[in-house]
Amino acid sequence: MPLEVVCASCGAMLYSGFDLKSPKEVIRSNQNKCKSCGKTLSSHDYTVDVGKSKMGQ
Ligand SMILES: [Zn+2]
Repeated sequence: MPLEVVCASCGAMLYSGFDLKSPKEVIRSNQNKCKSCGKTLSSHDYTVDVGKSKMGQ
């Protein structure tokens, strides 16, 4: 189940991989900006999704 960090503004994938990084680390490696739309990202401006499948169904 890959970790995904997605820009809440434009939906661009900022990070996808199997390393469980801190989202802050991912964002910092992008100069705290979305590489797609250029928005400066703060803690509520991205979403983190660990895996697509839900438990159960
Ligand atoms: Zn963006």
